[in-house]
Amino acid sequence: MSDDIALEQDATELLRTMIRNACVNTGTAASGGEERNADALESYFAGSGLSFQRFTSAPGRVSLITRIEGSDPKAPTLLLMGHTDVVPVNASGWSRDPFAGDVVDGIVWGRGATDMLHITATMAVAVRRLAKSGFRPRGTLIYLGVADEEAGGTYGAKFLVDQHFEAVKADYVITESGGVPIPAPDGIKLPVTVAEKGINWRRLIVKGTPGHGSMPFRTDNALVTAAEVVRRISTYQPKAKILDEWRQYVGELGLAPELAAALTDPDRVMEAVRHLEPLGFARLAHACTHTTFSPNVVTEGGSKINVVPDRIAIDVDVRALPGVSPLDVDGMLREALGDLRTRVDIEAPRSQDGTRTALTGPLVDAMRRVTQALVPGSKIIPRLTSGGTDARYFRFKNIPSYGFALHSRRIPYTEYPLMFHGNDERIDTESLRLSATMWEALVREFLG
Ligand SMILES: [Zn+2]
Repeated sequence: MSDDIALEQDATELLRTMIRNACVNTGTAASGGEERNADALESYFAGSGLSFQRFTSAPGRVSLITRIEGSDPKAPTLLLMGHTDVVPVNASGWSRDPFAGDVVDGIVWGRGATDMLHITATMAVAVRRLAKSGFRPRGTLIYLGVADEEAGGTYGAKFLVDQHFEAVKADYVITESGGVPIPAPDGIKLPVTVAEKGINWRRLIVKGTPGHGSMPFRTDNALVTAAEVVRRISTYQPKAKILDEWRQYVGELGLAPELAAALTDPDRVMEAVRHLEPLGFARLAHACTHTTFSPNVVTEGGSKINVVPDRIAIDVDVRALPGVSPLDVDGMLREALGDLRTRVDIEAPRSQDGTRTALTGPLVDAMRRVTQALVPGSKIIPRLTSGGTDARYFRFKNIPSYGFALHSRRIPYTEYPLMFHGNDERIDTESLRLSATMWEALVREFLG
């Protein structure tokens, strides 16, 4: 069996195991169960000579670290970090069992296949190969399979950075996501995630006056007010803002000049995305140029069918562009509510600034060399992500942090945005081979 085929099978089997472990994170402390994937990684590494540290933040919430110590204290430390949890599914929307880890025609199906167990698995494959080969780098390599990314890292990256920083302290971090090839007229572009939006969760408490459901005339029904609150928030559009990362990204895509100009013009971008196809790109373009507001959960409704409700709570997922502060977010919400602002109390369960890292420096140079060798004619380009990743906890500490991997072109780049947290998540096995190969080459290039 050729080395490439062995590598691909190795990564495929580890990914399937991790999908089947179904470490579903619903956001409660009791969910996740990442201990199962920590165990899977530990048994995968068994026999490679690596030793482990396990960090338990709550029952079942286990993160696993293994390291290859460098020989030169002045050489950099690189942290490869993959989360081991996944988000819940609505199985009825899937074409296949989301937790079976089916492989059909070279495609692995399952929750986490793209977010982000494929990276967690291929990083592990590279680390094991390096360890088994007797790799003795100058710089130190840390591998971290981390819990709880999908609920914000309280039991994972945030816990480790806050309470066990020595274990994860590094000069550079790579985690999700990137490296899905974009074919442009002048060659393949490989996006590297360098910036992400700030997660700001807001709970809107809509107030009313209780009364008897049999006499609704001229009552102050909080649910009726809430319906208008939701409508206003869902149609609210703050002014667009064009970041350098977005401008560079759009400039590399080889779009028609008129479209590229419109997508990078704060006065025209909203009109440009309104009918833009494909849908995934329209959503991305909107999210990368606006602070967004998505009313997603009614956490408190009324109490009883014959009672006019006096209190409705609505959770709104707000994603702020880097440079838009949590205070700015509250100002935007008040603007969206207009004259209803006095009827609504705003609570802020989570407030975080967006983060950015420059696409420059020795690690980026190594990424450039390695990817150009693996994908001739390719170019890495910066990317802003609308989602949150654990990279932010390291960027908050001023540690340059990137989202990357390396994909084949079998699944078009336009499909990936729809698969994250969506139905029918899947990855082709060639991408697993490419990523594992890239991680190993990058570590040798950068730390060797
Ligand atoms: Zn993820």
